[in-house]
Amino acid sequence: MEDYKYLFKVVLIGNAGVGKTCLVRRFTQGLFPPGQGATIGVDFMIKTVQIGDDKVKLQIWDTAGQERFRSITQSYYRSADALVVVYDVTSFESFRCLPDWIKEIEQYASNKAITVLVGNKTDLIEDREVSLDNGTNFASTHEMRFLETSAKEADNVDKLFLDIAEELTKRV
Ligand code: GDP
Ligand code: MG
Repeated sequence: MEDYKYLFKVVLIGNAGVGKTCLVRRFTQGLFPPGQGATIGVDFMIKTVQIGDDKVKLQIWDTAGQERFRSITQSYYRSADALVVVYDVTSFESFRCLPDWIKEIEQYASNKAITVLVGNKTDLIEDREVSLDNGTNFASTHEMRFLETSAKEADNVDKLFLDIAEELTKRV
């Protein structure tokens, strides 16, 4: 039987194509799927991490294609301990849409949930459309944590989820 001290639910949101599924797969399976990562066929993936003396189980929910229909329901957000809002640093459009996602969080999520802003695809240096300052400023305005990642290069992906686990553990 698997033993763990804490179980936390982490929910990823953000426009389609920003790399949510790739981030989850990179963290839980150590894989970067080639081509269209698309649907993973399950609603969530699990990974247990060690935080100090404690085993912490993360249940990570990926919106798996529903984002384009904006039919993500209240129940999806309600029980989230952490919300990760992802944009793509090579897509200004995905950055421009962030206020819509913030609105959903304000409307549906618990105000105790922690929120993290993630700018993904930093490996695509020449295609960058959103600066580090853009991300930093947006995050500080909305009192979110902020990190830039590359699911492809595994850059900051473990840190993203480990920081969330650590912060949530501290708050228990
Ligand atoms: P989702 O719709 O937000 O789940 O996005 P996906 O995870 O399906 O990724 C969309 C596309 O972006 C796929 O073609 C991925 O291969 C690509 N992608 C995701 N993360 C990265 C990354 O960090 N770097 C690069 N270069 N491509 C990425
Ligand atoms: Mg996806």
